[in-house]
Amino acid sequence: MILGYWSALAACLLLAVAVSFTPLGGAIDNNVYDWLLRLNPPPAAAPQSALLVVDDASLTAIGGMRRLRGSLAQALERIAAARPAAVAIDIQLADEGDAAEDAQLEAALARTPNLVLACDMTPGGWQEPLARFRKRAAAVGHAHSRPDSLDMVTRQIPLMKVAGQFDRRWALSLEAFRLARGAGHVVETPEDLEIGRTTVPARDGRLLRVRFVPELESVSLRQALAPGAPLTQFTGKTVFVGVTSQTAAQDRWMTPVSNGLPMPGVEIHAHAFETLARGRFLTDAPATAMLVACLLAALTAGAVFWYISGWPAYAAGAGLLAVAHAVPALLFSRDIVFPFFAPAATAWLAVGVSASYQHFVVRRLLRKTEIEKGRYQQAIRFVTHEMRTPLTAIQGSSELMGRYNLPEDKRKQIAEMIHSESKRLASMIRTFLDVEKLSAGQMELKRERFGVGEVVDLCLLRVSPVAEKKRIVLERLEIPEAVLTGDRELMEYAVYNLLTNAIKYSPAETTVRVAGALDGGSLRLEVADQGIGMDEKELKRIFTKFYRTKKAEASGEAGTGIGLSIVEQIVTHHGGRIEVASQPGKGSCFTLVLPAMHNS
Ligand code: ADP
Repeated sequence: MILGYWSALAACLLLAVAVSFTPLGGAIDNNVYDWLLRLNPPPAAAPQSALLVVDDASLTAIGGMRRLRGSLAQALERIAAARPAAVAIDIQLADEGDAAEDAQLEAALARTPNLVLACDMTPGGWQEPLARFRKRAAAVGHAHSRPDSLDMVTRQIPLMKVAGQFDRRWALSLEAFRLARGAGHVVETPEDLEIGRTTVPARDGRLLRVRFVPELESVSLRQALAPGAPLTQFTGKTVFVGVTSQTAAQDRWMTPVSNGLPMPGVEIHAHAFETLARGRFLTDAPATAMLVACLLAALTAGAVFWYISGWPAYAAGAGLLAVAHAVPALLFSRDIVFPFFAPAATAWLAVGVSASYQHFVVRRLLRKTEIEKGRYQQAIRFVTHEMRTPLTAIQGSSELMGRYNLPEDKRKQIAEMIHSESKRLASMIRTFLDVEKLSAGQMELKRERFGVGEVVDLCLLRVSPVAEKKRIVLERLEIPEAVLTGDRELMEYAVYNLLTNAIKYSPAETTVRVAGALDGGSLRLEVADQGIGMDEKELKRIFTKFYRTKKAEASGEAGTGIGLSIVEQIVTHHGGRIEVASQPGKGSCFTLVLPAMHNS
């Protein structure tokens, strides 16, 4: 039972972990992650970046994408005047444009401090900005994000990407951050990246989980170009410049904070920058921690329902479920991303399985005790009923003896009757106790070897006085030299019982025959009589405790109705069975079939 229980729990664990790797598990984990991310925004702080966006209104105002470079140049000049910390431009500048506009843009870029330009990954390698623009930039960064393969939602960006032959580029936001902080190189360790005094945990694939901030300021190109006050909102900030126009921007992605509207790539970069700038990074718990949590959940559920029962167990199970659900949330508030699905699913499955297991076991025990109670009540009823007859006889006779002066022969007769009735009472009690012990499994089965011939002879000797009284002939036919293994005393009880039944339920002057045969590894021992016999219906019930046929009761010989049930139990305990053939009025033949060896 223990093995089955714990294997079922192990199966729960395996199932939960396996499903956590399927799209279903992934989708649930993603949803929980998004929810926790929104629930735990980074602490409110003034943003260190701002957006200059080319939206639809701006495009209309400047005359379309073709005229972008000139207008961008003008805006950059104005931004440069506001002294930003750095400027990252997420606009492809790989192709030649209008010569005048390109020159204008180049001049503006030259005046832009800490400029980062974007490069694009193509199958052949990185597509860099035109050399004239490139040389004005302090760095070139890639502008890719990493949408989730399951739901295409962008939760993280690769801080580094490799194209072609190990040609690496840092992310646009990372380069902008490095320049804004005045740091030299990005220092790499297997575990993380160091930019100045900031250490960014980035182990697997150098991915950064973006913590989206609610308060990013965005200025459109059109607003930036409008004559008026200087663009002080960019002072000291890192400016991310990009196209957000619904018609022109292709890189728009769903994010955990999207609310149905995809977010333009440039905005995602600004959020990534804020994540770097605020220095609170989300790290993934190691996979082993998840497995350990699942294991703990399964073990706890198992132990709870194994050692505790009833409502405290259910309360503890509910507590375990609550913990399994709360742990990812608690860890998230400490910046650790812990998978939700696998531990929670393990907890649910394990609690479900162990609770039903307990329910099942408890019910089975209850049923068993109820059956036992019923059996006991029936036995007690029977015993009290059966005992009444001999007791009344004893009571009445002893009263007679005490009250009247009886003649000697009458006294002797009554005394004999009292003696035989009390003996009957004693045997009834002994038999009753034997059955109870045997069915309760309290009776120890000895394992000794004994010859079947000796058992038969001893039993025949014991029953011969009773047979003689009825002038019944006991015929002992050939009994093979077979050796049985088990409890000799119990086997004697069985054979003796069959013999006394045969004699009890046979008329006087008939024959009771005992015969044996060894057939392969089993012995067939027959006790056949020429007695009252039984019909089919009666045959089916004679092994039921306390059952007696009507005919047997009428014969006045019927005993307790327990004997055969004991015989059957003894035989099955010895690995054998009992067969009966009988016809009313023609006699019965009881055959014990027992595993035996030839005594050679
Ligand atoms: P009992 O003490 O009443 O003999 P058993 O359990 O030994 O109890 O037998 C159950 C009943 O089976 C008997 O009461 C009788 O009706 C029937 N029975 C057993 N053996 C024989 C037999 N050899 N011939 C006819 N009926 C028998």
